[in-house]
Amino acid sequence: MRYIFITGGVVSSLGKGIVAASLAKLLQARGYRVTIQKFDPYLNVDPGTLNPYEHGEVFVTHDGAETDLDLGHYERFLGIQTTRDHNVTTGKIYQYIIQQERAGAYLGKTVQVIPHVTDEIKRRFTLLAQKEPYDIVITELGGTVGDIESLPYIEAARQLHYELGPLRVLFIHLTLLLYLETTKELKTKPTQHSVRELQRAGVQPDILVCRTAHPISRELRSKIALLTNVPRNAVIQALDVPNIYQVPFQLRREKLDEVVLRRFRLPIRGEPDLITWNTFLTRLQGAEHTVRIALVGKYVELQDAYKSIHEALIHASGWQGLRLELGWIHSADLTPESLSRHLRGYQGILIAPGFGERAIAGKLLAIQYAREEGIPLFGICLGMQMMVVEFARHVLGLSEAHSTEMDPHTPHPVIDLMPEQQGLSQLGGTMRLGAYPCEIRKGTLAYRAYQKTLVYERHRHRYELNNTYRPALEEAGLLVSGTYPDKKLVEIVELPQHPFFVGVQFHPEFQSRVEQPHPLFMAFIEAARRMGNGK
Ligand code: GLN
Repeated sequence: MRYIFITGGVVSSLGKGIVAASLAKLLQARGYRVTIQKFDPYLNVDPGTLNPYEHGEVFVTHDGAETDLDLGHYERFLGIQTTRDHNVTTGKIYQYIIQQERAGAYLGKTVQVIPHVTDEIKRRFTLLAQKEPYDIVITELGGTVGDIESLPYIEAARQLHYELGPLRVLFIHLTLLLYLETTKELKTKPTQHSVRELQRAGVQPDILVCRTAHPISRELRSKIALLTNVPRNAVIQALDVPNIYQVPFQLRREKLDEVVLRRFRLPIRGEPDLITWNTFLTRLQGAEHTVRIALVGKYVELQDAYKSIHEALIHASGWQGLRLELGWIHSADLTPESLSRHLRGYQGILIAPGFGERAIAGKLLAIQYAREEGIPLFGICLGMQMMVVEFARHVLGLSEAHSTEMDPHTPHPVIDLMPEQQGLSQLGGTMRLGAYPCEIRKGTLAYRAYQKTLVYERHRHRYELNNTYRPALEEAGLLVSGTYPDKKLVEIVELPQHPFFVGVQFHPEFQSRVEQPHPLFMAFIEAARRMGNGK
């Protein structure tokens, strides 16, 4: 079992998650059993209670954990399923230690960062490898080297390196080379400083991955190597690229995978098998036609808030040889007057998931518009719930129908709190979370997409379609094409006469993969494509 730690230097947002996922992809494509985990230095137990503006999307795992969005990259790149053990936060570590302390586990001892916190971090570093026989476990350390809160993680990784030795633990440091416009040169000083910072903590990086907007010359590579104590062939250039799917190829050209394997004394046979990946990339890059999709949501200012949806749309468009043009539309901007101006020319509309009352009216307007104009519409979670509300109001004639999340006193609660959610006061981790089976009804659009009668999809919600209204809704023409058999919960609704009017209570976006796009996203893009380019 070998461990790779990836740290970040100079600034945040350098794309550590993508580098980690790309390296893992290369190793996996060489036949190694690889997984990736993420350690975050913040004190929240998980990101589930964080506002999307703070931290982007919350990624839900199959086993129902609310995790960092980087786990989405790991799953999409590797085609694997991560678990609740793949994302650890300082909050989780401390919660566990304090519970232990209260239970008397350390009786008589002073509980300290070293050794108790670092020991617990080390235990978690190696936990995945104890459960499954991985060859290599990659750990992405969140934050930037030099942050006070990252220190216990760096220290724990240093100890693991000391204990297991350099053949089993290696460090990759991701850094930024600054480009000065005035003198037209790349500056290495911030990189030198961040490597020093690591060295001060007792860690010598084995490999440097340098993000840069301009190619690194031979001389500069040698200089970086000399000043950071890293072999020249382990100074890896990571040039800015227009799309993240090129990164595995880019790192392959720099032989990052070979540097890693040689360092671990693991065999390097032939080339990594990236045939499917390459097929996708070729179609994506060769796309001649555009598909225009509007994403209607309320966190559109921060695109990371809808990361998995965006990626799932790119996968589905790319595989169909289409270039995705995504319009980010704030539902608060949609009024009866502005509606058609905002939505004109789009071949498909996606209504995003979300919570709370704000900007709901705009979503309902967009749904009505798409339903009446025959524009492909895909509603996810809250999006699906609002499709049901809109249908109940305008087709069933229940003009005050609503979800009790938005209007607790509505006379027609077509969307209501699930019984097991009533009376809950704790917010973290208490929604209906993770994968549940969904039975697909034959002869429906959902069945045509999935080609299966049983699928597993991931959930994150408290409310659901109120079964009291199900007969009336069905009678009025809303087709229930997917249900959770155990509890008879409605999971998918659609309109048979419409080109594509599909709402799902779950989050299909979490299961779209680069090498295996999600069937519902494929069907949505296909319907949008058939609309032609309206403009
Ligand atoms: N707010 C809704 C619920 O809790 C939808 C949640 C979501 O879109 N993820 O049921």
